[in-house]
Amino acid sequence: MSSQAAPKIAMLGMASENCTFSNARTKIEDFEILLGQRLAQTRYPFLSDTVFARATFLPLMHARALPGGMITTDTYTKLKSDLLEQLESVLPVDAIYLDLHGAMNVERMDDAEVDLVSAIRAMAGQDCLLGASMDLHGNVSKELVDQVDLFSAYRTAPHIDTKKTREKACRFLLETLENDWKLERAWVPIPLLLPGEMTSTLDEPGRSLYAGLQDFDHLPGILDVSLWVGYVWADEPRAHACALVTGVQGTGAISDVAQQVAARYWAARDDFRFNVPSGSLTECLDQTIADTVKPVVISDSGDNPTAGGAGDLPYALEAVTKRDVFLSGQKTAIIVGIWDPTAVAKCTAAGLDAQIDLTIGSFADNRHATSLRVRGTIEHFFDHDPVAGRQVIFRLGQGIQAVLTERRKPFHYFPDFHQLGLKPEEADLVVVKIGYLVTDLQKLAAKAYLALTPGSVNQHVTRVEYTRLEKPMFPFDRDFQWKPIAQVSSR
Ligand SMILES: [Zn+2]
Repeated sequence: MSSQAAPKIAMLGMASENCTFSNARTKIEDFEILLGQRLAQTRYPFLSDTVFARATFLPLMHARALPGGMITTDTYTKLKSDLLEQLESVLPVDAIYLDLHGAMNVERMDDAEVDLVSAIRAMAGQDCLLGASMDLHGNVSKELVDQVDLFSAYRTAPHIDTKKTREKACRFLLETLENDWKLERAWVPIPLLLPGEMTSTLDEPGRSLYAGLQDFDHLPGILDVSLWVGYVWADEPRAHACALVTGVQGTGAISDVAQQVAARYWAARDDFRFNVPSGSLTECLDQTIADTVKPVVISDSGDNPTAGGAGDLPYALEAVTKRDVFLSGQKTAIIVGIWDPTAVAKCTAAGLDAQIDLTIGSFADNRHATSLRVRGTIEHFFDHDPVAGRQVIFRLGQGIQAVLTERRKPFHYFPDFHQLGLKPEEADLVVVKIGYLVTDLQKLAAKAYLALTPGSVNQHVTRVEYTRLEKPMFPFDRDFQWKPIAQVSSR
């Protein structure tokens, strides 16, 4: 870097979490693109702090999609070329901040993050400092660690430190430039691959493990200490947990720290559990019907769109319609939100209050359930949700309301229900396509169950057919010894 002028730091990235077990695809229209000032306001509000005035930060472009099936080749190629074009327009820069997720999967490509970062590295040159913030549910390969100078991953799941982590990575880039540090990284791949639902930092042992990372933060020469759980619904060799420590070359015990973090995670491997009772959907419904409190919230976890499920499986709706207690209206159930634009269009054509036969779901993901043929009444249309497109409340029998959506839409917050006129607080049962419950749903649930439903993000991971994971890998293999060994990268 030049010693006089303020350093220039470009900011860009691409983020999606893509399941390889789904035959749904993530396409260009699924991405939200943020540019320039809007990007800064949305993702980097910390730039207004005085410390960041010591450099010229250049927010360029960020592309983000809801988790889903693999990204199509055309979509990835287009977004990559747009990102590179944006970068080229501001070169040379002293550093680049990479705003990544880490679990992108592109058709016919392994390790999309490495492909993207390698192209950025080639364009920006070997002297340019690269720093990435990532989701702890990303999969980090040695090749990525070789290319990027510094890393920082979230330390909470559900993620409440996203902005803090981005800020941390940017601050480390700034400090590294100002002090002219040479960085090195110690990476320990851990043969452990668990779903996020078992490794939440709200519950033990995840809570103590992640809080314990602070033990190492202030050791001399250590910049960042991160622990990745990894992304379990990708059948790829880089899918596994890892510890990764970034430090200043020759001054810190980065390998020792990374090995300690990895050893702690490994030692806790038998203690991870779902934080609510789990079982088959049949078991969860039996329990619900016997329960005296309400509402009961059941997670239809195998088709969770925020983990990469398609969100179009009618499996749970079908199971609920087979229970007379709901059909008769003796108990009430709300089942949200099943993605099916064709069913929504058919409802539109039939009109409000029409009673019709409707085929629902399993059009994007036809591997894990079949579509459902039912008769019901069109109770309500809603058009003012920017994510969902048109939504339909379809009533089945006396007690069941199903919400069909034109586009994929997670239901995490009270307004998602209330804007449709639904009253989940008064229902006996609410079924949501989600894994662990997020804040509003936690508040809603008098009781909760995690149903191990079929789908491309099946929580029963040992039943999922992998062919490309490194072996051995816990929990698929249980009877093996392992010792953490750090691999150091520097440039
Ligand atoms: Zn995540």
